[in-house]
Amino acid sequence: MAIDPRYENPVSVLGRSALRRSWNIAGKYVKVPGVRALVRQERCTGCGACVRKGFCRFGAIRIEEGRAVVDEQGCRGCTRCTHLCPKDALTLEVRAPGAVRDTLRALDKEISRHL
Ligand code: SF4
Ligand code: SF4
Repeated sequence: MAIDPRYENPVSVLGRSALRRSWNIAGKYVKVPGVRALVRQERCTGCGACVRKGFCRFGAIRIEEGRAVVDEQGCRGCTRCTHLCPKDALTLEVRAPGAVRDTLRALDKEISRHL
């Protein structure tokens, strides 16, 4: 049953509004660190389905010379395209984010020093 807005708890109204705003911000800026889509060239037929509206919600895929190309900067790593390509030509590349890589490198150096 819908609550009459005149009697709604103001805290709930504020909470809902804050949640809506954070979803909007997340939709605009969030990116899965270290994850991006890759095109398996041997499978891609250039059918163009992936550049149609609603496939990649961030418009990160284009067709070039008859094959799909993923824009590295534009891809948010959401994985949506990997489920939708009819030829299973889109896959994910997972790379550790820069900060993690640097930490692992430093750790490796430290361990090597003590061996
Ligand atoms: S990646 Fe998939 S959907 Fe996009 S052009 Fe290639 S085969 Fe078609
Ligand atoms: S992983 Fe998401 S953002 Fe990246 S190309 Fe695929 S659908 Fe677009």
